Amino acid sequence: MIDLLSTFLVVDGRMIMMKKKITSKIANCLCGGVKIRIKGKLRHVINCHCSQCLKTHGNYAAYTECPDDKINFINKTTLKWYHSSKIAKRGFCSICGASIFYKLLKSENISIAAGMFSNPTKLKTHSNIYTKGKLDYYKLDSRIPKFNRNSR
Ligand SMILES: [Zn+2]
Ligand SMILES: [Zn+2]
Repeated sequence: MIDLLSTFLVVDGRMIMMKKKITSKIANCLCGGVKIRIKGKLRHVINCHCSQCLKTHGNYAAYTECPDDKINFINKTTLKWYHSSKIAKRGFCSICGASIFYKLLKSENISIAAGMFSNPTKLKTHSNIYTKGKLDYYKLDSRIPKFNRNSR
């Protein structure tokens, strides 16, 4: 979805309206109880293989990310937060059970499960992290960089 943002510029004493393309993306859980619009860029996708992601997603997690203030909640009536550790919480839908958000409490960014978006996402998978936690039933794509811990 493309929104047009109007900005005004004064050139030679005349007001000129500029239309700037701003891409916005919609993400929602299975039941639609959590629905968000993100304005601006999303980070590339990082697959996390830590045991907490495996347990909450039922598989490794694929997260994109953006600054908190770029998220606009269209609906969050069913959103619940689980404090998964002292430093982080995870947002999920209390009706359909979708694992949607990962939030480091001190961070100004929020991770969003990439599967909540629809095509074209224009996202690419960038890396695998915490691969020590990977279970043995699946293989990693050797073309994607891997890190035993976080990549940052
Ligand atoms: Zn839901
Ligand atoms: Zn993880």
